[in-house]
Amino acid sequence: MVGSFKLDRRRVKEIRCGKMTELACKKCKYIGSSGVCKVCGSTDFSKTWYGYVIIIDPEKSEIAKKMGIKYAGRYALIVS
Ligand SMILES: [Zn+2]
Repeated sequence: MVGSFKLDRRRVKEIRCGKMTELACKKCKYIGSSGVCKVCGSTDFSKTWYGYVIIIDPEKSEIAKKMGIKYAGRYALIVS
C-alpha cells in the first residue's frame, strides 16, 4: 500500500512517521489537535496512528481519491 503512494509524489508533499502527540480521526483519518474532526465531524479520535500524508490538492491527487479525501490537510495512513 505504501509503495503506491510513491507514485503520487507531486501531489503529496511528505510521507513520514507521525508524532504521537496529535490525534487522528478514526473515521476519515484526518489529523488534528481538537476533539472534533473538521472534515467529517466525528469525535472518535485515536492517539495511536502511524505515518501520514499531506494532501495539498485533493481534486488532482490519486491518493486523495483512493482514500476518499475531499479536503487538503494531513491524514494518517494507519489509525488503530
Ligand atoms: Zn474525520
